Amino acid sequence: IRKVAVMTSGGDSPGMNAAIRSVVRSCAYYKLECVGVYRGYQGMIESDIVPMSARDVHHIIQKGGTVLKSARSKEFRTIEGRKKAYESLKEHKVDALVVIGGDGSFTGGMIFSQEFNFPVIGIPGTIDNDIFGTDYTLGYDTALNTAMEVIDKIRDTASSHNRLFFVEVMGRDSGFIALNTGIGAGAEEILIPEENMGLERLLESLEKSRRSGKSSSLVVVAEGDKTGANVFELADYVEKNLPQYDVRVSVLGHMQRGGSPSCFDRVLASRMGVKAIELLLDSQSNKMVGVQNNEMVAVDLENAVKEHHKISKEILRISDIMSV
Ligand code: ATP
Repeated sequence: IRKVAVMTSGGDSPGMNAAIRSVVRSCAYYKLECVGVYRGYQGMIESDIVPMSARDVHHIIQKGGTVLKSARSKEFRTIEGRKKAYESLKEHKVDALVVIGGDGSFTGGMIFSQEFNFPVIGIPGTIDNDIFGTDYTLGYDTALNTAMEVIDKIRDTASSHNRLFFVEVMGRDSGFIALNTGIGAGAEEILIPEENMGLERLLESLEKSRRSGKSSSLVVVAEGDKTGANVFELADYVEKNLPQYDVRVSVLGHMQRGGSPSCFDRVLASRMGVKAIELLLDSQSNKMVGVQNNEMVAVDLENAVKEHHKISKEILRISDIMSV
């Protein structure tokens, strides 16, 4: 290969810029040309492609979001759309693609790679940490710290007023953010989709903690949790059944996706970008770069999109012990 395209696709996450920078700099190191594709697959279809040199990516490692912008593309889901995208890459003499994104972006990349026999490597960028084959995705660590700091602040107001707070954090169908911020912020209860606690047990546990003399309580709820229809109905139910509590809800929302990436995410992004280029130089394709037990690994994209990233039993056990 001589020329690599890099792009960000799907939802953005902190650390994407650090990954772009790493891909571009690794290309320069290995004397490959590099281009950036704006707005994900849609920009690829529209040939929104610019050359990128090592100097073009200075001072972006600390920035949240993605300088290449991200987008969702309906057209890329069609064979006609993907053909246009392929022609754009050929027109720019690109012969390999690095996609930074989530499992939807990987599915698109895999289909594209198979249809046009085009080398594609994925870098997992999502705050949800829901991708199989890697212990951590880019942006997850930053999102954990952002959410945890806010939960600490909510705790201050909760304890001043003897309130019970339900705090909803992001994560879609997975409970990684909730479980880890919950442990980190010392939440009384953590509700995640992987383990349905049930309303009765939740009430019992909150009542027990009230009787034990706790002045405030904090329950961290994953957005995909199914204990209640949603966090507001859950809070209503608890307030009706435990009238001693003054209940409040806080939904943290998109602030969890923004901000300057943590050092962990910057270093991980730098490692992943180098690994992506080294895999391409080793003639590999259809792989996702992952980190397992602190080693960089290559995982088949097919497995990365098919399997689920499971929460470890050990961390669930810690959370149980902490909420005694
Ligand atoms: P996020 O973590 O935010 O969901 P993602 O990468 O999973 O990130 P998606 O919106 O699911 O985000 O996918 C991004 C883009 O990938 C889609 O807009 C589409 O262009 C492409 N894509 C997803 N699935 C397919 C598919 N089955 N075939 C072709 N392209 C796809």
